[in-house]
Amino acid sequence: MKVLGIDLGGTNVAMAVVNENGEILVRKTIETKVQEGFEKVVERISKAANEIISEVGGVSKIGIGSPGSIDHKNGLVRFSPNFPGWINVPLSKEIEKRTGVGVTLENDANAFVMGEKWFGKGKGYTDIIGITLGTGVGGGVITGGMLLRGHKGIGAELGHVVVDPNGYPCGCGNHGCLETIASATGISRLAREWKERYPNSIISEFTAKAVMDAARQGDPLGVKVLEIVSQALGIALGSLIHIFNPQLIVIGGGVSRAGDVLLSAVKKRTRENVMRSFWDTYEIVLSDLVDDAGIFGAASMGFEEIKS
Ligand SMILES: [Zn+2]
Repeated sequence: MKVLGIDLGGTNVAMAVVNENGEILVRKTIETKVQEGFEKVVERISKAANEIISEVGGVSKIGIGSPGSIDHKNGLVRFSPNFPGWINVPLSKEIEKRTGVGVTLENDANAFVMGEKWFGKGKGYTDIIGITLGTGVGGGVITGGMLLRGHKGIGAELGHVVVDPNGYPCGCGNHGCLETIASATGISRLAREWKERYPNSIISEFTAKAVMDAARQGDPLGVKVLEIVSQALGIALGSLIHIFNPQLIVIGGGVSRAGDVLLSAVKKRTRENVMRSFWDTYEIVLSDLVDDAGIFGAASMGFEEIKS
């Protein structure tokens, strides 16, 4: 069985045909060119999709992961900051029309956790929390084997769990959301804010990667920022563990490339924030799908739908 996974982004659209063993058979990336408007973007995606579908002799389903607020049931992008002007656009229907293949559309962070269940570290698990640390912070929850969507399908916004009520203003209108601290944007801002206190720091470029690299080398500014970030993640994950009692927490997104330095700090802080009866009931791991997590996530939604 083969599924086309489409990872829809504000800059690029990455797509690949994936089989159920998680092998990528063929792939293609095109520019989104969102400024050209919904119709043209749909045309371009469909054309590229048709090309690679014919290369593999057909697929059973198309799965699409998109940022923003998604109406999975009706296949609509309700709203997404990445796609200005797309309000309640029927993305699934339009792509089905042009490819002749059934489409399932899901929020990209929900798709991420499903991708982990099908193809990543979550294989064989029924209760998984996925958290993506990128430009923003996304989240998805699988509980009892089912993706948690909530009443309107927009649940599991884990990036907007408040970890500091007096914290930074968040894009969502609240203050101190996890996203304001543990995203690449948050990390970069923290490093800038604390740099005066650490004049000997080797950090000169205030990207999340540079900060994490510095922390790994014991740089005092890097270590300070990592402490703040892991504390915020520890508070958020501690609460999520109390609510969902997961077997596995998978951390993905660009920031997760920091590797062990991040993972060990988050593990330590999380343990401090969960009650003893939960100790040793969960594992925290980093995603190993990182570069293709979007494609695998999207494809897994297709497989999940075929299965059900
Ligand atoms: Zn927020």
